[in-house]
Amino acid sequence: MTQEAHDVIVVGGGIGGLGTALALARSGVPAHVLERAPEFSEVGAGLQVGPNAVRALDRLGLLDEVYATAVFPRRGVVSSALTGETLTTLDLGDGFRERFGYPYVVLHRNDVLSPLLEACRAHPLVSLENDRTVAQVVDTGDRVRVCCDDGHELTSKLVVGADGLNSRVRTLIADDDPVFSGYVAFRGATPIKATTAAEDESDVRLWIGPNVHLMQYPVRSGTMYNQVAVFRVSDASEEQDGWGSDALLERFSPMCDEVRSTVAAHAEATAYPNFDKEPLGTFVAGRAVVIGDAAHPMLQYLGQGACQALEDGLTLAATLGGQVDDLSGLARYDALRVPRTTRCQRSARPWGESWHTTDPILGAYRDRYLRMRAPDDYNELAWLYDDALASLLGPVEQEMETRR
Ligand SMILES: Cc1cc2nc3c(=O)[nH]c(=O)nc-3n(C[C@H](O)[C@H](O)[C@H](O)COP(=O)(O)OP(=O)(O)OC[C@H]3O[C@@H](n4cnc5c(N)ncnc54)[C@H](O)[C@@H]3O)c2cc1C
Repeated sequence: MTQEAHDVIVVGGGIGGLGTALALARSGVPAHVLERAPEFSEVGAGLQVGPNAVRALDRLGLLDEVYATAVFPRRGVVSSALTGETLTTLDLGDGFRERFGYPYVVLHRNDVLSPLLEACRAHPLVSLENDRTVAQVVDTGDRVRVCCDDGHELTSKLVVGADGLNSRVRTLIADDDPVFSGYVAFRGATPIKATTAAEDESDVRLWIGPNVHLMQYPVRSGTMYNQVAVFRVSDASEEQDGWGSDALLERFSPMCDEVRSTVAAHAEATAYPNFDKEPLGTFVAGRAVVIGDAAHPMLQYLGQGACQALEDGLTLAATLGGQVDDLSGLARYDALRVPRTTRCQRSARPWGESWHTTDPILGAYRDRYLRMRAPDDYNELAWLYDDALASLLGPVEQEMETRR
């Protein structure tokens, strides 16, 4: 059988895979993307993009394209889902932008994926294939063999697993299962007129309560409103059959009027169970490396899964240094990415627990702390939003600049 030979094969064409292919190509490394879906597309919901990932998108040369449909929220507002009381606000205005160098933006997922896809299509070093489901990846020592379920086979010097939570490529590194969080999310974006009016439609709003939360923000230049209603299913059996809109309405029934009516208006949205995995000690095995959810699936509470995937791709390209004949740079990728993304995975779980606590004492302490914090207190966010890649990417960016 003829085997197509490539320098790098990227398995998976989500935000992480396309971002990585583009970063590699911009550093001079050709990348071939295999995506199992017939088209490159994201779920019809929103994405919060912190300044660390806006910075990453800038480094990929996509800032104008992303800003074209982004919403720049004025504030993050956290309220009690039970009483409606505003507990704290986070100022996302000029002070925030000055502090981190980039804004906090919210977008439709496809408005992040499309610019990545267009840039990949336009780049001579990126090739893209749909309808290719990778079934097996074999490291043969001098190359990697990538076998698709339709019998198609390819080889490469390096394979990048960007194939999400149930990654095939990850099986070369670990044999582990997703961990169900006990929560499901009903999420979707709808035209803005169909929603219950929010206090200020440019805010990111988070309502927290026992076993539930509701996240709301505008997308598509403010023409659509994204809502994510999350609730706990009480036992493992409900993981299979407890995600209907009846359960959603029942779990939110003790909440305040505004939250209840919003949730009721979106009961037909799609339900997704939320999973993560235990952190890995390494993202590398021989000629295979994983990025994004394939490497470090995390619960959504920090709004960082896709953001970290974009950082991964840039870091991988930078540490390889524009070539794949010598893969020693993978150790540096590992050393930079494992600690940072492990911290995200580990922080996301208790962060969510603090939102959902059913313990009245803990809830009271949380609320008291939130009421006291200043809107421009960014200390807790600095580790996420400061430039974690500055020293690494500086010289590589200069190199990329000269190649453009
Ligand atoms: C409710 C919710 C809210 C979230 N909110 C945010 C947020 O606000 N901000 C944020 O940054 N993150 C958020 N996330 C996390 C974010 O969605 C993910 O971390 C991100 O999409 C991961 O991107 P990825 O490219 O690594 O993986 P994926 O998006 O899962 O892409 C994997 C791709 O690989 C393809 N694929 C899979 N297997 C194969 C195969 N065998 N062969 C070929 N192709 C394959 C898939 O079809 C898919 O296209 C949220 C997640 C959830 C559940």
